[in-house]
Amino acid sequence: MKKNITVLSMGAGVQSTCMALMAAKGEISPMPDYAIFADTGAEPRHVYDHLEWLEGQLPFPVLTVQHGNLWRDTILSAREGARVANAPFYTKSKDGSKAILKRGCTLQYKIVPIEKRIRELLGFKKGQRVKDAHVEQWIGISFDEMTRMKQSPHKWIENRWPLVEKQMRRGECQQWMESNGYPKAPRSACTFCPYHKNDYWRYLKNEWPDEFEEACEFDEKIRGGINRRSAKDFKAEELYLHPDLVPLREADIRSDIDKGQLTFLDECDGVCML
Ligand code: SF4
Repeated sequence: MKKNITVLSMGAGVQSTCMALMAAKGEISPMPDYAIFADTGAEPRHVYDHLEWLEGQLPFPVLTVQHGNLWRDTILSAREGARVANAPFYTKSKDGSKAILKRGCTLQYKIVPIEKRIRELLGFKKGQRVKDAHVEQWIGISFDEMTRMKQSPHKWIENRWPLVEKQMRRGECQQWMESNGYPKAPRSACTFCPYHKNDYWRYLKNEWPDEFEEACEFDEKIRGGINRRSAKDFKAEELYLHPDLVPLREADIRSDIDKGQLTFLDECDGVCML
């Protein structure tokens, strides 16, 4: 069994798609042994369709790992109080104050399943000490997001950020794919992720209205809280997907221009401050 492997962490969004296709064309090397996609079960359907297309373009296998289903597990927790790792939902306390739940979903539904699969690929069992092995793990962070770069806590996993090395920003990844004749990659993340900004919600509502509707229904179902153990918990706080602490369906997700607010370009002073 190989003890030195290269794995590409596949999110199936713009950056990891670009990184995988660049590797396939030999523009980033070495060729990964595997790509690993951690499926939360909560991505929009068009991301799964894109992943299926992408698999057909790559000379290396894309392995899917899954720990439960974050969508279903969260709804079950909202309904019956079953334990689930928190997504970073916004909370509104009885006194109206806002906070955000500590995020546990990424660790449980993405990082842990990927590491477990890597251990298996190296031939180590759960809990067994990994030794004499080295994994180069590619992460699809682009140059404009480099503050998110973080080394792995494991000595045997060395993270690498090929798009940062190439100083490629997100827009340049899109340009690279376009100039190489590839279709646009979607934005990948759980459909209901509270980290989405208004421009994502607008995109989802306009381009994928059924999925936006599903996110609105999800939002309504978590209002009474998750991980509740008692009636007291039930009344403690309300949960929301949108930071304005209003139902997603009613949130003002218009752009500044739609709201009639002036932008810098509206006020060009003739020299554009250059
Ligand atoms: S996309 Fe959002 S909800 Fe999904 S795992 Fe990541 S942080 Fe959690």
